[in-house]
Amino acid sequence: MPHSTDVFVIGGGPAGLAAALAARRRGFSVTVADSAVPPIDKACGEGIMPDGLAAARSLGLDLERAGGFRFRGIRFCEGSHRVEAPFPDGEGLGLRRTVLHQLMVDQAADAGVRMLWGTHVNPDSMKARWIVAADGGHSPVRRWAGLDDCERNSRRFGFRRHYEMAPWSKFMEIHWGDGFQLYITPVDEREVCVVLISANQRLRLDDALPSFPELQRRLSASRASLERGGVSASRRLRSVYRGNVALVGDASGSVDAITGEGLCLLFQQSVALAAAMEAGDLSQYQAEHRRIGKRPAFMADLMLLMDHRAMLRRRTIGALAAKPGLFERMLALHVGQIRPKEIVQTGLALGWGILTV
Ligand SMILES: Cc1cc2nc3c(=O)[nH]c(=O)nc-3n(C[C@H](O)[C@H](O)[C@H](O)COP(=O)(O)OP(=O)(O)OC[C@H]3O[C@@H](n4cnc5c(N)ncnc54)[C@H](O)[C@@H]3O)c2cc1C
Repeated sequence: MPHSTDVFVIGGGPAGLAAALAARRRGFSVTVADSAVPPIDKACGEGIMPDGLAAARSLGLDLERAGGFRFRGIRFCEGSHRVEAPFPDGEGLGLRRTVLHQLMVDQAADAGVRMLWGTHVNPDSMKARWIVAADGGHSPVRRWAGLDDCERNSRRFGFRRHYEMAPWSKFMEIHWGDGFQLYITPVDEREVCVVLISANQRLRLDDALPSFPELQRRLSASRASLERGGVSASRRLRSVYRGNVALVGDASGSVDAITGEGLCLLFQQSVALAAAMEAGDLSQYQAEHRRIGKRPAFMADLMLLMDHRAMLRRRTIGALAAKPGLFERMLALHVGQIRPKEIVQTGLALGWGILTV
């Protein structure tokens, strides 16, 4: 352990590295420790929305440089209905998690972040002006700091596989089943990432795929990786700091993985946290953290209304398919490219569409 550092970050996943980069940009000396060794893999849909790419750029991270696959927008598939819309501005990026992690490690090294890999941290031994817990959704440091108190806490389960095949679409696809979703992100010219998410811990990709025969046919022709699982939590904490300890990334709460906004959130939180540390006032971070999380949490709730309600789902996707302009506006809302007045108009138009489809 180093004897002195301004900022000690526990956890060197995307949140820990983003927090480290943001703190270095404010002139702090920074040490990051992680019990694992890069490049660290994790079950993730591997899709980064345009707002996430913009947030990454504000940390000096040019993710597009790493390759991956640029996608134009989102497509919903439900039974025979298909509805798609391009992002109003910019593209999304599918990027293998290991590629993202290595890029962030290299960038942190260039920025002068001290990194301790293969190092499990006991927070009691920490000596630093600021301690940043970026140790993931389970976050033992959050418990140690007495910050486990939640306003909301529910879980779903994600299982991911990669398939060696050329992407068939320039869109990220969400296939809606009853109580589960499959989402598909092209991650390079020869590979797609497929994630199943549901509240049923026992449901696996092979159980869900027969509900989508066309998709199953496509995927069965190519080689698949092993399945990797993870927890997708919808968690809002009462507080994300105490004393000189701040939480960031999944340790600080999260939105359901269906939003594809986890990485965007942690990039934005990191920028806000560094500004608050510079101001010497973590209450600023608390306020910004809450503001940043509102839109993705709202979108997650909206989408998950359709999770178990087959009739509502069919009517909603039918209404969106009948009026694709509506879906475009929903997507603009999702990635923060719509004004508040238009949100109300979009909501009303969608409600009317559902009633009349
Ligand atoms: C199924 C699924 C699909 C998803 N799809 C998307 C998507 O398409 N797009 C998107 O933007 N987001 C997605 N997300 C969310 C995204 O993956 C997370 O928001 C993101 O991984 C959070 O990163 P993190 O750094 O906070 O946590 P983690 O990636 O979990 O990193 C935590 C790190 O802390 C380390 N650690 C823990 N305890 C200690 C300790 N005591 N000492 C040292 N190190 C420690 C661990 O080794 C780990 O490396 C998805 C999530 C799931 C579950």
